Amino acid sequence: MKSISPSSVWPPLKAIDNMDTRKKISLVAPFYNEERNVRPFLEQVQAALAPVLATYDLEIICINDGSRDGTLDALKAARQQHPYVKVIDFSRNFGKEAAITAGLDYATGDAVIPIDSDLQHPPELILEMLAQWESGFEVVLARRTSRETDQPLQRLTARAFYEVSRYISHIEIPADVGDYRLMDRKVVNALGALQEKCRFMKGLFAWVGFRTTVVDYRVAPRAHGTSSFNTWKLWNFALEGITSFSTIPLRVWTYLGGLISFGAFLYAAYLIIKTVLWGVEVPGYASLMVVILLASGVQLIGIGILGEYLGRIFTEVKNRPVYIVREVIGP
Ligand code: UDP
Ligand code: MG
Repeated sequence: MKSISPSSVWPPLKAIDNMDTRKKISLVAPFYNEERNVRPFLEQVQAALAPVLATYDLEIICINDGSRDGTLDALKAARQQHPYVKVIDFSRNFGKEAAITAGLDYATGDAVIPIDSDLQHPPELILEMLAQWESGFEVVLARRTSRETDQPLQRLTARAFYEVSRYISHIEIPADVGDYRLMDRKVVNALGALQEKCRFMKGLFAWVGFRTTVVDYRVAPRAHGTSSFNTWKLWNFALEGITSFSTIPLRVWTYLGGLISFGAFLYAAYLIIKTVLWGVEVPGYASLMVVILLASGVQLIGIGILGEYLGRIFTEVKNRPVYIVREVIGP
């Protein structure tokens, strides 16, 4: 009997009797200057999913997030070998969060899986996720077991971020879990109903809830190219996460201001009494300077935090779309 290699049975022949009951899986892959990763990514995904391609329909939504290299051409070319690829071409770079939002909007599958296109997320894990999904879980998180591909500083700050956000926001963002996850159609629909423009996906994912489980994986090093998240971008990302899901930084100033004012009041009383009893005293320049500098520093931080929230309210109020699509190529 002629043996059939997994790739030669693609696209899968639909079995006529269960045509309507076949479930569809959507992969959502953002691409930003990933020219050299397009082919290896699609090939690895296809190879990894080969065992289940007879059971499920597949679509891979590839979002070209305003790449400046040949990513778009590579994606278009890849559609010859991978007809289940759909390409969403953005009019410019809108960022990864916007790309994933678009992918979720366009995905039609019963299960949707956002996955990085730089092969840092092992596609083999999808089989495990699917098994968990079939056993009734609506969200299957992929948790990285190590941060060995990160810089030491990045590891430290990531830890700090999860700790801080756990204390100051009322939702729990699971640690070491990224966008790589499986979501049931119900979850995707719930996410689609969230209208906010500042999209901190990790937070939104956690906010919608649903029956959740975890599978572990090791992060692979990037296949080609370099990460587009530098320290400044990551800081802003963390800020987005905190301000989108907690108002404590905004409210804490009332109490801190109250405390400082109370201290100042006591100090003033002390000064008045001292002046009345012992007369005017000239020295005190140093202590005054310290108090003024400290107080104005605290005020500036307070104003800055107001600005962080105000800026986001501004973004929400303008109500601009999260992304703009130039072209949709594919089925
Ligand atoms: N990405 C994107 N738009 C951006 C930056 C990144 O779509 O503005 C994509 C990128 O192509 C990759 C994924 O997001 O598939 C993760 O990006 P990267 O590898 O740079 O981040 P890291 O893995 O270091 O967190
Ligand atoms: Mg990466």
